[in-house]
Amino acid sequence: MSSAKPVLISGAGLGGLLLAQSLRSHRIPFKLYERDADGSSRSQGYRIRISVDGLTALEQVLDPAHYERLRAGCTDLGAGKIEAIDALTMQAKPLAQPGSQGEDRVGPPAGGDVVGVDRAFLRKTLFEGIEEATVFGAQVVGYALQEDGVVARFAEGTTSPVGFLLVGADGVRSVITKQLTKGALKVYDTGARAIHGSSPVAAFEGLGTGVFSIRDDTREGGRIAVITNTMRKEKTASFGWVLVGSPGSFSAPNDDFSVTGKPAADLSRQLTARWHDRLRPIFEEQIDDEAVFLKMATSSPDGVPEWDNEPRVTLIGDAVHAMTPAGGVGANTALKDAALLGRLLADGGGWKEGLTAEYEREMRAYASANVKMSFETASRLFTIMKLTKTI
Ligand SMILES: Cc1cc2nc3c(=O)[nH]c(=O)nc-3n(C[C@H](O)[C@H](O)[C@H](O)COP(=O)(O)OP(=O)(O)OC[C@H]3O[C@@H](n4cnc5c(N)ncnc54)[C@H](O)[C@@H]3O)c2cc1C
Repeated sequence: MSSAKPVLISGAGLGGLLLAQSLRSHRIPFKLYERDADGSSRSQGYRIRISVDGLTALEQVLDPAHYERLRAGCTDLGAGKIEAIDALTMQAKPLAQPGSQGEDRVGPPAGGDVVGVDRAFLRKTLFEGIEEATVFGAQVVGYALQEDGVVARFAEGTTSPVGFLLVGADGVRSVITKQLTKGALKVYDTGARAIHGSSPVAAFEGLGTGVFSIRDDTREGGRIAVITNTMRKEKTASFGWVLVGSPGSFSAPNDDFSVTGKPAADLSRQLTARWHDRLRPIFEEQIDDEAVFLKMATSSPDGVPEWDNEPRVTLIGDAVHAMTPAGGVGANTALKDAALLGRLLADGGGWKEGLTAEYEREMRAYASANVKMSFETASRLFTIMKLTKTI
């Protein structure tokens, strides 16, 4: 199947990459534009949990050998069991497991396998075979509709060739979303804050092997908790962790989230200074340069809003449904979007009138449920009381 004009994709994150793979396998021409200078320019280091939606999407799109290579780099987490422990005593804390409606549920939805995978590995594997169609250092700032297609506009004032469809896969601050939905899709700051860090494997000796949610409910500012996954198939020198805090519990200096490295590492040491002796090495011995601050954002918890459909432009992934990391569904949903849109394009023999409307109708149903679940989980875990508009 071929068409003279390409599909233009803005953003080579997990969603954009899998869509590109789908188009490649159906011989639909595409161009993938990525703002970063190359595929590894930012710290991508955290491990994500991929559950049934994400695994199904990957298996549907990738050829069997490619999928097996990817799967071989993932660690099976069984049904996604998470051990919750008290940060001060290291005693087990009751934690409802995936699938239950328990108030403490933190894992991905129940059903099927759950795997842990290094995000950098996942991205690298998804780049295989599409390198030539990817343009790095290309910051998309908007689009212009043409009589027979659409062009992406770049920061330096140039434009792309005319595409038959533009897909905004450019994440939570998507410029395509802003232009397409004219403000209908809003992203909110939940007030919850996080520090992502990395520590040598030896620092986790006192914790052991598994997927852990380590909670400290003794702080005046509200709960802080660390999520970490020390189950690996591959040999690694370090494990990542994410320390999440309820609104008001901590923030970056001057709430400036471009601050990275030692200030973030030192704050995590300070926050965990009273934690159990077996846990403190994780923070004491961490690799300072790897520490970054993160804000927990969400798009409207009511779900993906309606906007006037534009047949030539659509959105996938965080660009259309930003989710908190709680619930572990953001990447899974981005992968599901990519597989769905790729399949509709392949089934229809390329672009056709009504295609983006059909995709958006289907995507809205499952993505709205996931945004809601992720927000409700984050609210329960981190007592989120108010949302502030961020974009
Ligand atoms: C700490 C943490 C843990 C998480 N854990 C999980 C988990 O366990 N399971 C799960 O399912 N999800 C998890 N998530 C969520 C998941 O990471 C995201 O939902 C997922 O990465 C979204 O993929 P995406 O392709 O839509 O966007 P992104 O991965 O954000 O990719 C967007 C891409 O677009 C590029 N871009 C941005 N702007 C432009 C522009 N103007 N022009 C060109 N390119 C641009 C960016 O550089 C980036 O490469 C977690 C998130 C965090 C922060």
